[in-house]
Amino acid sequence: MITNALTIDVEDYFQLNAFSDVIRYEDWDSFAPRVEGNTFRILDLLDSVTVNQRSEVRGQHSQESDNKRPFGSVTNNKQESDEYKMQSDKSCLTNDSPKATFFVLGWIAERYPQIVKEIHSRGHEVACHGYSHQLIFSQTQEEFREDVKRAKELLEDIIGEKVVGYRAPTYSITDKTFWALGILHELGFKYDSSIFPIKHDVYGWPGSPRFPYVISFNDEKSNLPGISKNINFDKTSYNENNNSIIEVPMATMQVFNKNVPAAGGGYFRLFPYFLTKHLLRGINTKEKKTFVFYLHPWEIDTDIPRIENARVFSRFRTYVNLDKTITRFKLLLSDFKFTSLSEMLFRN
Ligand SMILES: [Zn+2]
Repeated sequence: MITNALTIDVEDYFQLNAFSDVIRYEDWDSFAPRVEGNTFRILDLLDSVTVNQRSEVRGQHSQESDNKRPFGSVTNNKQESDEYKMQSDKSCLTNDSPKATFFVLGWIAERYPQIVKEIHSRGHEVACHGYSHQLIFSQTQEEFREDVKRAKELLEDIIGEKVVGYRAPTYSITDKTFWALGILHELGFKYDSSIFPIKHDVYGWPGSPRFPYVISFNDEKSNLPGISKNINFDKTSYNENNNSIIEVPMATMQVFNKNVPAAGGGYFRLFPYFLTKHLLRGINTKEKKTFVFYLHPWEIDTDIPRIENARVFSRFRTYVNLDKTITRFKLLLSDFKFTSLSEMLFRN
């Protein structure tokens, strides 16, 4: 069974770019925090997913609305059931719960170091989401460098280990901000997971590769934005000491030659689960590739305070189907195998 990457962007409900026109950075401390409880819920949920749960009562027909069904009893046909039985038999040998990469915002790490410690002590990867969650388009190169350096050092002080992964706030590395990759490389990051190969009103780089690739800083011709010159990432031949950084895009599917997002977040809440599952399953089975999925702690929280004066579209995008996230997330953990990005990229 292919092991995919699960990623959680650890930030709170008032820090979203969608609300940046009505909530100032200076006022963040005045909001009631929800991030600690929500992150711990996700950690507990991941710990609760054992191989046994994955394999229990496979074969029952299930529907998303069936909330009474025991967690894990998810499959729609016999072939899938057999497939899972085989997989779970194999993975019984390791008996491990899924691992994830948590991209933690520096602002959060500074105020709640216990969250970072807990993520680390439960065997997940701690990675960097910058300090202040500002769009990179709005920063100078020096501001970007200082923001990311501050967050990286904070995280490393808390866990006592190097942090090698980065994700930009609101996926704001695009063809306009590709210079950020060189700075990330200079700061010691081994991989970046910020470029979304789709068309979107805020972010996205349509036409960029859909699967992990290497950006080399040795050869000018292979640098972005001449993105087609970059090479696919292959963990068996990749040399970590090379002058390069790995880019790991979010999951997409190609429909009529267009990349459709299938990676999580708002799309996960908006699309019915069977569609997300179908798209992700296609990446694993038809394309025989891994995918990267993402979620935010606030997305499992139906009680987050609503930002009433925000734009209607921002409110819709943020609050749609919050009550469905947990059920869908459990189904996802049951239907696919996950690990952290570092594990996926660097371990055999
Ligand atoms: Zn974020």
